[in-house]
Amino acid sequence: MEERFVYADNAATTSTSPEVLEAMMPYFKDGYGNPSSLHKKGREAKAAITEAREKIASLLGAAKPNEIYFTASGSEADNWAIKGAAHANQNRGKHIISTKIEHHAVLHSLEALEKEGFEVTYLDVDSDGLVTPEAVVNAMRDDTTLVEVMFANNEVGTIEPIKEIAAAVKAKNPKTLVFTDAVQAVGNVPINVAELGVDMLSLSGHKIHTPKGIGALYIKTGVRILNLVDGGGQERGKRGGTENVAYIVGLAKALEVAVNGMDENKRVEKMRDRLIDGILTSIPHSRLNGSRTTRLVGNVNISFEFIEGESLLLLLDMAGICASTGSACSSTSLEPSHVLISIGVPVELAHGSLRLSISRQNTDEDVDYILEKLPGIVQRLREMSPLYEEYLKNNVK
Ligand SMILES: *Cc1c(COP(=O)(O)O)cnc(C)c1O
Repeated sequence: MEERFVYADNAATTSTSPEVLEAMMPYFKDGYGNPSSLHKKGREAKAAITEAREKIASLLGAAKPNEIYFTASGSEADNWAIKGAAHANQNRGKHIISTKIEHHAVLHSLEALEKEGFEVTYLDVDSDGLVTPEAVVNAMRDDTTLVEVMFANNEVGTIEPIKEIAAAVKAKNPKTLVFTDAVQAVGNVPINVAELGVDMLSLSGHKIHTPKGIGALYIKTGVRILNLVDGGGQERGKRGGTENVAYIVGLAKALEVAVNGMDENKRVEKMRDRLIDGILTSIPHSRLNGSRTTRLVGNVNISFEFIEGESLLLLLDMAGICASTGSACSSTSLEPSHVLISIGVPVELAHGSLRLSISRQNTDEDVDYILEKLPGIVQRLREMSPLYEEYLKNNVK
């Protein structure tokens, strides 16, 4: 097969889609007005963000456009929801419930609160990465003010039962706030905040084909949360700063494309399953991490015995394939992924893990190419591995 370039790291970030770029373009040019200005340019910019807010609210099933607040990233939305709600409600209690498999934007926000004297219960997950509503409710106390469970996991793709969790929490204490980090779920899973029963939900543009630097937080009317940035009164006084008009318009477009094209996810899901089955059958000593079924349409996470994820990434990169590994949480850390460890993957296997995350922009030819290249690369690495040599010595007569 001819050499190709395959981008299979869509859980890290996505390419900006042509429709999104086209929608944004006017606001880099003539539409430069400040939405707070009363003149024509200002009114035009204001109309653009009003329309974007209405569109996003409607696509997410929010009761009112004013429940959507724009932020600069998913991380900002996560930080704001957690710290803002914890602080605003601390007179009622200082206990928060979350899970062991959250994104670092959530985990590190919680750790910051712990340093201030808040108490956090981090729930265990099962081998599929699932949290049960029962586990959440059992951890609730009189002083629990906030529950945060991610909608879908960025490493192993597990989709959590958020609706059931929210219902169970509210049944036990209607005052306990429920926040979900839906950065990976938005566009991949149908979402209606009213039906879900959550109080807050975060999303990020660059995971759904906008450029990096735009996110949003849904905050249900009536939820108490501190202001994030004091300033000129933008975002109903909660997050000051002249609005990023072009990116806000881009976010609305990206969400519209993602939600209206949900049918296309069936094709992505088929590609995912072909990757999983193809890899597991062609490469011995490999295993799927996470759930086979309760899984994001584009997520593949597989561990290979006897090899290191970093070397695998390097050789894949040389073959034109962009992927990711859970062996290091980030390129600057040598710790194995906290998510893989939490779902019970042994450390050695966590070190040999590969995440392929595909999107609607991938094709069947991309899948064919990965399935053609990967087995040989894994074999090459194993042939250089002392662990594999030892295994062969002990197992081949
Ligand atoms: C990417 C991601 C974030 C952070 O979003 P940014 O816009 O990159 O800050 C938060 N949570 C999850 C689950 C993510 O995948």
